[in-house]
Amino acid sequence: MCSLKIFRLDLHIHTTLSPCTELGEMTPRVVVKAAIEKGLDMIAICDHNSSRNAAATIRAAHGSSVKVIPGLEITSSEEVHVLGLFPSVNEAQLAQDEVYARLSGVNDEQAIGYQVVVDEFDMVEDMEQALLIGSTTMNIYRVVDLIHGLGGLAVASHIDRPGFGILSQLGFIPDDLKFDALEISKHTDIETAGKKFGQSCNCPIVTSSDAHYISDIGAVFTEARMSETSFDELKSAFLGIGRRKIVRRRMPV
Ligand SMILES: [Zn+2]
Ligand SMILES: [Zn+2]
Repeated sequence: MCSLKIFRLDLHIHTTLSPCTELGEMTPRVVVKAAIEKGLDMIAICDHNSSRNAAATIRAAHGSSVKVIPGLEITSSEEVHVLGLFPSVNEAQLAQDEVYARLSGVNDEQAIGYQVVVDEFDMVEDMEQALLIGSTTMNIYRVVDLIHGLGGLAVASHIDRPGFGILSQLGFIPDDLKFDALEISKHTDIETAGKKFGQSCNCPIVTSSDAHYISDIGAVFTEARMSETSFDELKSAFLGIGRRKIVRRRMPV
């Protein structure tokens, strides 16, 4: 029997590709360095409607103690944010292709901010032109189906916040919408979250930083019991398979 350990996860981190981050701050090497310093074992890169900086962050973390999961934070037509976490950059890329086909508009860099694509050495490669902070034309069901169809995990983002969460937009979580986890922000303590949202989904509640600034990384995190930091183990922890599980959610002191 393989031994299980407790790992620290922050599964919602933006990079300099998201126009709402500080320009040039959230680059792959800097993000990975901060994750190591905060004692995180696994992070997920989830920029708005794009995964273009995920592969570079994975390469930046190569050989380090931090495992990087590629993802996207997809905006549904109802303006609900959903994290798609994927086994590899191939699936994240396929999800991104689908999302881009259902996004419209061009980013206004002066008004909204720059969307900087970088390599694993933090060198600028490109400026993304798509309007990443816009909504896709996919409804929430199609977003979850897209993620699951590619073997990914669908996490409802910041359900406790007043905007862009499923509860703020729909008012409830439909029974037939199969999220793999619900995310709460640092603004809700775990007891309150359990009482308010525990019955909302037959899935774990996780806490992530939704970091837009370096100082946010690891400010809150989730602990999971797994054998290693892999996507498959994360999936097993979400599903509670083989004694893997989300064990507790750390909140800020
Ligand atoms: Zn969000
Ligand atoms: Zn976010």
